[in-house]
Amino acid sequence: MRLVLLGPPGAGKGTQAARLVERHGVPQLSTGDMLRAAVAAKTPIGLKAKQIMDAGALVPDEVVIGLIDERLDSPDCAKGFILDGFPRTVAQAEALDRLLADRGLRLDHVIEVKVDDDILVDRIATRNAQADTAGARSDDTVETLRKRLQVYHEQTAPILPYYKKSGRLVTVDGMAPIDEVGRQIDTVLEGAPEAG
Ligand code: AMP
Repeated sequence: MRLVLLGPPGAGKGTQAARLVERHGVPQLSTGDMLRAAVAAKTPIGLKAKQIMDAGALVPDEVVIGLIDERLDSPDCAKGFILDGFPRTVAQAEALDRLLADRGLRLDHVIEVKVDDDILVDRIATRNAQADTAGARSDDTVETLRKRLQVYHEQTAPILPYYKKSGRLVTVDGMAPIDEVGRQIDTVLEGAPEAG
């Protein structure tokens, strides 16, 4: 199963990806997690990425494409993967198609988890008001979320027509309860035959 989960920051892609990892035994490939690991390890990529991430902007395409290119060859990706947070630009989506084609592969499913902006802002404001934010991500504030949403609409949303044109896009309602979103995703995965 080779799957892309698309959707704005905070839509629940990570939660749904974790559920799919359990059920299907394929890894979750999150460029956000890879970049945070690089920041923590102070690698050259991490040192470059930190400020960009804290500002809610996008790390250059070639950096994240390189991370995914390397990761796709790991043995645990042989049975498939769930991409979470990649691609985020049309250039990344095109590069992903190329990287897979080079390996004789293609995507089985592209699922958009759709959530309205005002709900995402409410969710993060409530969470930050309630939670002890000591261990929170440094980009997890209402102000940065607004910037990340703007970036999503300007740079990531154009991917939707890219996948729609090739008949690969299915949208689920990310505002439904978590289990219901999971059921909608299961229906997509059961309904369509996987690519060879
Ligand atoms: P995420 O954990 O997916 O929300 O990503 C956190 C941050 O990492 C984003 O706000 C970007 O700064 C950066 N990032 C993650 N994935 C990508 C990507 N595919 N392209 C560019 N920047 C990314």
